[in-house]
Amino acid sequence: MHTESSSLTFASLALCAPIQRAITEKGYTLPSPIQAKSIPHLLEGRDLIGLAQTGTGKTAAFALPLLERLHKNPIARQAKRPRALVLTPTRELAIQIGENIALYGRHLQVRHTLVFGGVGEYPQIKSIALGTDIVVATPGRLLDLMSQRHVFLDRVEVFILDEADRMLDMGFAPDVKRVISQLPPKRQSLLFSATMPESIREIASRLLVNPVVVEVAPVGSTADRVDQKVCFVGRGQKHRLLLHFLSKHEGERVLVFSRTKHGANRLAKNLSRDGVRADAIHGDKTQGARQRALASFRDGSVPVLVATDIAARGIDVKEIGLVVNFDLPEEPEAYIHRIGRTARAGASGLAIAFCDHEERSLLRDIQKLIRKTIPVENDHPYVDDTAGSQTMQAPSSRPSRPSGHGQARPAAHASHAPSAPHRHEGRQSHAAQPAAQRSRLFSRHGSR
Ligand code: AMP
Repeated sequence: MHTESSSLTFASLALCAPIQRAITEKGYTLPSPIQAKSIPHLLEGRDLIGLAQTGTGKTAAFALPLLERLHKNPIARQAKRPRALVLTPTRELAIQIGENIALYGRHLQVRHTLVFGGVGEYPQIKSIALGTDIVVATPGRLLDLMSQRHVFLDRVEVFILDEADRMLDMGFAPDVKRVISQLPPKRQSLLFSATMPESIREIASRLLVNPVVVEVAPVGSTADRVDQKVCFVGRGQKHRLLLHFLSKHEGERVLVFSRTKHGANRLAKNLSRDGVRADAIHGDKTQGARQRALASFRDGSVPVLVATDIAARGIDVKEIGLVVNFDLPEEPEAYIHRIGRTARAGASGLAIAFCDHEERSLLRDIQKLIRKTIPVENDHPYVDDTAGSQTMQAPSSRPSRPSGHGQARPAAHASHAPSAPHRHEGRQSHAAQPAAQRSRLFSRHGSR
């Protein structure tokens, strides 16, 4: 069932004054489409399927009614028995959800606890033992604590399964099912997913009763406001091509995707060698290192971040000017998540994919999923003219040869010398973009 997104305001939603105040302080003016469509139903206690990617405001869509419910029905906290559980695939997402809950609930007496691996268990165990209202968890650590009887789910009133498709992609299906099996039958359940493959439908049918279905972008469609380009390039030329685009986008934040952790490290190292302030973020880095890399990216001191898909999942950084798919992802859905990083909260952005010979079939899969042909960008010195360009017919067997043959470094690259590392002149203008303006864009674009 779909509701109208309409011109609903936050004030017209039945949220208590302390929550309204927190929203105003955060600078939100209008609910995003997913919020406008979901919150009224959630306040009525309905189950919900939210077909929405990150960047649509889905966290507030579930967090606001959850906080309202807990606040409106205060019940004494019980040790080890939270009233709500949010299950999310990555630590970064758990941290972000926790930050949002803290923010929207800053004038309420609601406690939440984060539960994820890679850090010591003891503070988490202690916090739950003291009695907490909301647990925000990744599946592995939660199951660990459940099996050690540090947490029980029998008093969970609201269960939220976030990024369900990603969760399954990461192999968490059995864990998710185990968690669901421990929930009490009487509860409100929400499932959010960017896509709806059969495996998610199956989980949804176990989890939800007569759910409202809310969709803010057609399944499998890419955010229309992302300008997408593909460059056909020989593998050996990719690094130079990257430097070319970094030079063109100097002063902006650039997120570069690598397929492997090792590749991400190597790329960040080579970029640093070339005078670009860059860092890598991936699953093998410690939690501290990941948080530091994100913080430097966010504050602009390290403007280029090389990420793998899983680590990038939780990157909520506004004003990413460019997303580069240095390698194309094996799973076409990941492409949608990747490029979505550059169009958060209404901003528009550019996403460039580098495609070498071996990646043609991956590009085909992506184009099939997004149901459009990504325009070819030939305005660079490394065009692989063996690519057969837009036609994308059977890959040529000729070895790749850059058209900038004989030209050691493009002119654009020369300006990207170590003495002129990335600066952030662009930040001021981004920062100057008021929250209200972003929100306007946010509501206008998202209402599909
Ligand atoms: P999410 O999809 O929950 O990850 O949210 C994406 C971004 O949108 C976050 O930075 C939120 O702070 C921001 N956001 C959420 N709701 C609104 C709103 N109603 N107006 C403006 N920004 C919002």
